[in-house]
Amino acid sequence: MSVYKLNMEQLRNWVGRLIAERPVYGVRQKDERFVFGRLKKPEELRLDYDVTILPPKKYILPTRENLLAYQPGEHYESLWADEPFVLLGVHPYDFVAIRQLDLLFEREKPDEHYLRRRRAATIIVADVERASDNVFAGCVGTAVVKDAFDGLLTRVEDGYLLEVRGEKGEWLASLLESPSPANAAELSRRNDVWENNRRRLRKHELKVPPEQLGDLLRRSVDHPLWEEKARLCYSCGSCNLVCPTCYCFDVRDESDWSLDKGVRYRVWDGCLLEDFAMVAGGHNFRPTRAARYRHRYYRKGLYVPEMIGELACVGCGRCITACTAGIANPVEVYNRLQEEPHEDDAAE
Ligand code: SF4
Ligand code: SF4
Repeated sequence: MSVYKLNMEQLRNWVGRLIAERPVYGVRQKDERFVFGRLKKPEELRLDYDVTILPPKKYILPTRENLLAYQPGEHYESLWADEPFVLLGVHPYDFVAIRQLDLLFEREKPDEHYLRRRRAATIIVADVERASDNVFAGCVGTAVVKDAFDGLLTRVEDGYLLEVRGEKGEWLASLLESPSPANAAELSRRNDVWENNRRRLRKHELKVPPEQLGDLLRRSVDHPLWEEKARLCYSCGSCNLVCPTCYCFDVRDESDWSLDKGVRYRVWDGCLLEDFAMVAGGHNFRPTRAARYRHRYYRKGLYVPEMIGELACVGCGRCITACTAGIANPVEVYNRLQEEPHEDDAAE
């Protein structure tokens, strides 16, 4: 592990070299908001963004991904995407989300399509410079990350500190011009940034300790809140689609008109959509909006934590911003369950 100090010109030149070496997906401004997109020149990069519309997981788990090509009755061929690329400027909470996806896609039956893209990615995290309106990463322990990345950029007064780790980190460092190690004062300023981010990335205050959420949810299956909130839900699925930790997908076949060939692909799906739990024969396991609405909070606070030991909400706040009905705030829901307990036997 090494930490270097880069002035703004060194940063710009380094990003330029990255772009010359391989595809770089970084944060760009789009009207008043920010998106991850392919960078063509260093000047497009905005490390001072608040939050991106979609999380960077879209480069590892694309919205649509071809899995295999087939010829009916003949053969099929797996389709792989493993060209190396760089993700530049990933906020710590989005990086934690990617690490959670790693655990989920590696367990039981490893998902080779996901894993190949993940191995191809060099991820450079950037500490948050500007808090978004709804971020609460400070409440769920994701405001700062200290390991598992390939690079970490932190803004300090007249430039950035770049920490690099592992083989991919060495490659990142090899593209620096006249690298100079960070001194003790600069490292201390980085600690201040981390402390500050833990404190300020709390636009909503979660009053339930994350490790107690599972038990709270087990006691809240029949809580009236689910019906009350779901009455306003449009089943639009926006809260799912902007979430960095959601990973559900649907697998479909698309045959050519000739019927001689086709592709099997997967697309993002969302548990708030009406037909998400529909199975052959037309049965829907979650036919009501309340059942679908409740499921999302159980998924984040109980089911995924049971699998990987971590809360599946990293506090990015995107769902809060995306929900037109104003009902998708996990902090508000969990706090209400805590403050207005509803004991029920069904959960036992
Ligand atoms: S549930 Fe909402 S706040 Fe939590 S990670 Fe998903 S989008 Fe972000
Ligand atoms: S974004 Fe809001 S309205 Fe849309 S599905 Fe989610 S909770 Fe319902």
